[in-house]
Amino acid sequence: MKAYTYHLGTWGETEIPSYTSEDRTYLTSLGYESLPDIEIGGEDDIRITIYPSLSNNGKSFVFFNTSFHWYVILIDDFPSMMQFLREYGPVCSAANTEFQIEELLKIAEKAFHASHGHGYEIACPVCDPNEYRRQLEVRTRRTMPKMPPMPEPEHE
Ligand SMILES: [Zn+2]
Repeated sequence: MKAYTYHLGTWGETEIPSYTSEDRTYLTSLGYESLPDIEIGGEDDIRITIYPSLSNNGKSFVFFNTSFHWYVILIDDFPSMMQFLREYGPVCSAANTEFQIEELLKIAEKAFHASHGHGYEIACPVCDPNEYRRQLEVRTRRTMPKMPPMPEPEHE
């Protein structure tokens, strides 16, 4: 199977034995630790997983996962790994941050709905009367049809 090589910003290609996730000895048979040293990114998103060399010579075995594909990158030495991380690490951490923010927003939306009885996007006359009046005025100025009566939300 094809693997990419990386040395101080220069990419190449090489052949390595085929990988199967069932083979627990795959990484050690190639001279790498079986547990990752560095993981950057999300579970279901773009992710870099780095396995160091068993002989501590600075070489690294890298899985680069996207949502549907994965690639192997063999990194030559420690300076190359640092350069690789500098170049490609931010892509993974940005994707992971985006994912985590989306999760936090979902929690915040649920919490808002649970305490207000309606979604945050509704300008409610009870819990956000200023915004409700502002929207009412804007609609009136634009001579749009009258704002429909707001459903009375349940408030705690
Ligand atoms: Zn409300």
